Amino acid sequence: MTATGATWQNWGRSEQVRPARVERPASAAAVQRAVTAAVKQGMHVKAVGAGHSFTGIAVAPGVQLELGDLRGVIAVDEDRGRVTLAAGTNLYQLPDLLRPYGLALENMGDIDRQTIAGATSTGTHGTGGTFGGLATQIVALTLVSGTGELLTISETENADLLPAARLGLGALGVIVDITIQCVPAFLLEAVERPEPLEATLDSYLERSAAADHFEFYWFPHTETALTKTNTRLSADAERKPLGAVGRWVDDELLANGIYRGVCATGTVMPAIVPPFSRLAQRLTGNRDFTDHSPRVFVTNRTVRFREMEYAIPREAVPAALREVKSLIERRGWRISFPIEVRSAAADDNWLSTAQGRASGYIAVHRYFRENPEEYFRAVEEIMMAHDGRPHWGKMHYRDADSLRSVYPHFDDFIAVRDRLDPERTFANPYLTRVLGA
Ligand SMILES: Cc1cc2nc3c(=O)[nH]c(=O)nc-3n(C[C@H](O)[C@H](O)[C@H](O)COP(=O)(O)OP(=O)(O)OC[C@H]3O[C@@H](n4cnc5c(N)ncnc54)[C@H](O)[C@@H]3O)c2cc1C
Repeated sequence: MTATGATWQNWGRSEQVRPARVERPASAAAVQRAVTAAVKQGMHVKAVGAGHSFTGIAVAPGVQLELGDLRGVIAVDEDRGRVTLAAGTNLYQLPDLLRPYGLALENMGDIDRQTIAGATSTGTHGTGGTFGGLATQIVALTLVSGTGELLTISETENADLLPAARLGLGALGVIVDITIQCVPAFLLEAVERPEPLEATLDSYLERSAAADHFEFYWFPHTETALTKTNTRLSADAERKPLGAVGRWVDDELLANGIYRGVCATGTVMPAIVPPFSRLAQRLTGNRDFTDHSPRVFVTNRTVRFREMEYAIPREAVPAALREVKSLIERRGWRISFPIEVRSAAADDNWLSTAQGRASGYIAVHRYFRENPEEYFRAVEEIMMAHDGRPHWGKMHYRDADSLRSVYPHFDDFIAVRDRLDPERTFANPYLTRVLGA
């Protein structure tokens, strides 16, 4: 289907665009035709996922490719636990799609609304000191390059391109399918506790290494961290899920409901934020349950916000968070959203925020009706002093020259971009800023 574009906007409402044309290719051949036609007309092309990036990375002023008709399982290698998915498959579809094979994703982030191609292209990750982000599980993919070629990239074909293509920012081609190394389905035992912030910071490194999946939230204006420690159990362990009512009370009423109240009131009455934050940290985060891994990893986010997230060497996390805390106190800002702290193992994808180093993540948020720039820029300065790398799908203010200095393989990636997209068919203003022209 081809249509003149209506206005597209991202989830965080930080980006809007009216594409010159929207196409919904339903096959790899249709993607090839769309790219080739656009190249002939001198137009830029961009595949869009679920629009959950906060940056302009998915903005398509020229031809926007919607891959909603490219979803589902294409092939399964049951012996090796590998599943080939059409690029537009949403993560929330995976539990049903993988269940017949007894498989699951090894790790997941906080939500499951993203597409598999969109999530991996920006380096989406969850937490776990010995686990990598989603893109580390890619063993093969097929893409249409900027010259219209359908290219398979795998451990045996064009393997030299794999470290670039697994996490390619949408700059190397339109991915039509992705093969993921899955793991046998498993349960997670979740333990969520409010704990003193200082003690949590002191134990962060040790707990990130020892637990399967450790993370914590810190509500600014409080001295409390809400810790989440998830332990992997086999699929036949006993499930102790949260009841539907308990889940609704915790996740919808308390978590989302309190945020909505604090955020909406806090924009006009900033003084209300600190007492509400203290209330929120008292009411949330003291529970134990055991459930299928996607039901534990994933939460429902209904209050809109904007986010910036930085990866820094893991050992720098306690100091960096203390600096952010004193920044907020010094500036007197009222910050209604908690700061999320996670970790990931080192990996070898060239533009991964965890490339070559065990990483810790610090994510700051602001309600979408508040201007985040002053806060985010000041936090970015702290993160840059710790050799930070910003999440490609979350807000930041860096450009190509500045990013080159923190990615040892930056120029290797550009060489692959020169090869696969010599005319910059897949460029947009964000990619030109972060990768260069
Ligand atoms: C509420 C919320 C919670 C989040 N939680 C997390 C989290 O826990 N961890 C984390 O790391 N991130 C998180 N994110 C960020 C999010 O995972 C990433 O921004 C992700 O890239 C969004 O996926 P998407 O499908 O919406 O892709 P989009 O944002 O639509 O696109 C992202 C990029 O992928 C490219 N792309 C999409 N499809 C293709 C394709 N077929 N071929 C080539 N390129 C393609 C686009 O062109 C663009 O460059 C969160 C975002 C939100 C809004």
